[in-house]
Amino acid sequence: MATAIASMMLAPSCKKADTAAAPDFDYTVDRFADIEVLRYKVPDFENLTLNQKILVYYLTEAALWGRDILWDQNNASNLAVRDMLEAVYTNYNGDREAPDFKAFETYLKQVWFGNGIHHHYSTDKFTPAFSREFLADQVGALPADMVPDNSEELIELIFNPALDAKRVNQAAGQDLIATSANNMYEKGLTQDEVEAYFASIKKADDPTPISYGLNTRLKKVDGKVVEEPYRLGGLYSGAIEHIVANLDSASNYAENDAQRTIIRSLIDFYTTGDLATFDRYSIEWAEDTASQVDFINGFIESYGDPLGMTGSWESIVNFKNMDASARTETLSANAQWFEDNSPVEARFKKDKVKGVSAKVITAAILAGDSYPATPIGINLPNANWIRAAHGSKSVTLENITQAYDEASHGNGFNEEFVIDDATSELLDKYLFITDNLHTDLHECLGHGSGKLLPGVDPDALKAHGSTIEEARADLFALYYLADPKMLEIGLLDNPDAYKAEYYKYILNGMMTQLMRIEPGKDVEEAHMRNRKLIAEWAYEHGKADNVIELVKKDGKTYIQINDYTALRNLFGELLAEIQRIRSTGDYNAACELVEQYAVKVDPELHKEVLDRYATLDIAPYKGFVNPVYTAVRDENGNITDVTISYTEDYPQQMLRYSRDYSGLNH
Ligand code: ZN
Repeated sequence: MATAIASMMLAPSCKKADTAAAPDFDYTVDRFADIEVLRYKVPDFENLTLNQKILVYYLTEAALWGRDILWDQNNASNLAVRDMLEAVYTNYNGDREAPDFKAFETYLKQVWFGNGIHHHYSTDKFTPAFSREFLADQVGALPADMVPDNSEELIELIFNPALDAKRVNQAAGQDLIATSANNMYEKGLTQDEVEAYFASIKKADDPTPISYGLNTRLKKVDGKVVEEPYRLGGLYSGAIEHIVANLDSASNYAENDAQRTIIRSLIDFYTTGDLATFDRYSIEWAEDTASQVDFINGFIESYGDPLGMTGSWESIVNFKNMDASARTETLSANAQWFEDNSPVEARFKKDKVKGVSAKVITAAILAGDSYPATPIGINLPNANWIRAAHGSKSVTLENITQAYDEASHGNGFNEEFVIDDATSELLDKYLFITDNLHTDLHECLGHGSGKLLPGVDPDALKAHGSTIEEARADLFALYYLADPKMLEIGLLDNPDAYKAEYYKYILNGMMTQLMRIEPGKDVEEAHMRNRKLIAEWAYEHGKADNVIELVKKDGKTYIQINDYTALRNLFGELLAEIQRIRSTGDYNAACELVEQYAVKVDPELHKEVLDRYATLDIAPYKGFVNPVYTAVRDENGNITDVTISYTEDYPQQMLRYSRDYSGLNH
């Protein structure tokens, strides 16, 4: 599971001198619409061995070659739209400061960021602020070979708000397949047909189920629903060929035999499309904790599918940050203690928490669904039975969190939203470390804790599964942040430090995350729902004791936490209930919790947050450009070094990726 980026919205203003950026490193690259594009550093890349650098190089190439798969998964017309827009952008001869062109440029930047015509987070289709005539004229002025045959259709898609309005529709009571504009299901299929199909192929009482539908597109042939696998010779073969070729080159530079086997297994999976092979690969990958260089590459997270079956293509290449990993290794070493002492019922606990491996990593490239917007933590594999039997790997992308932190200094957020100086000081002092620890606890221990009762379908919570799972991991982290154990094992040095994360969590869950939602809309994304669920539930259930108070000052609403100990107990109580829901597959209880606390927004408070936020000019969403890796070769073509540079800007990078990593016909 990926941890979303939102937790870094509130950043401390204290700078740790030892990690401070060189003054010439510019973290901010671009700013448009609701987006800020940043740059991240890859510290210690230079200190890898030549073999490791070459391994990283080929893995980053394999990562970049998957980009167009994701674009096509997101919408069937995305690649054609991108070609057309980029052709206009690069061939435009008029005034590049003219309002129509500026609006067009913003739209293209949004499309790049969304990996298609829908917003990466809300999944709503972007609304262009330039005229239809402008685009039609520009397309008409292109050289004939650059004008797509269906340009009228593409322009209609861009400008008609009713067409493909939402990439992933989660609205209760609607046909989630028919109303979602992604391309994981052929147009015309209904939710009933898709569910009936999966019900027909799922084996009952299978203790080691494959991840059904993970790497396939569903379509109808002669009236029957069939799966079309993403594999060599199948769907997306043109991109997969290049991924496989680069994985093959990478395997020659593997750090050890286990890693070579992992890469070969992944190649097997891409070759056959066989999901049992993917499970074998996932097990090998989860069990490899010795390699310093690591990567994910494939169809992983299923947030892009309204039914949570098909994985969106993504890749992250990384290497272990040796110093910072000591923190998460301490948590892992104590995993059983945390499991045994959690406030959940004994029958839902694991007798043995196995192989929770945790490390802090340095991201070397972000790709597919992890680019430009990226998670700050990863916990994989997703298959429950693999996690139970073989453990899982959990990582925190610390060079990414550090870039967020560095880029947000002095943005005025604390002054606007934090209730008083004492709380601001607490945040300044302890939020960076408690936020990192929260992510560590969430990823290393939270997702891996607890168990399903025998016979409970892991998908029993259906559309609410992701929200409940994220809530479970967050609550586990929140509950333990305040535990004396954190001081005992040396991860915190002050018994009040946890209050910084508690304050931020409630503030974010009840108020500040609403700045990501358009007026009148509901909260939909799973991580946001989870945060709102937890914060609102704690507010309601602490009301009698005034645990959390909404205080009005000069017409502005502030969060005041009156009793942090009581708040911790509430988190423990809710953790027990959420674990019960997960362990027993209590869909109705999940549905009630989500509908009551996680979805509906108070319009007045929402407007206030948006107004106050607007005065700050902070982008609600952030993402990254990647560094550029260059292989230095001798006269025989052998790689003698890999260099890294940080000079590419956002449009340059997007245009280069479109030019150099375009393997699919469209
Ligand atoms: Zn998570």
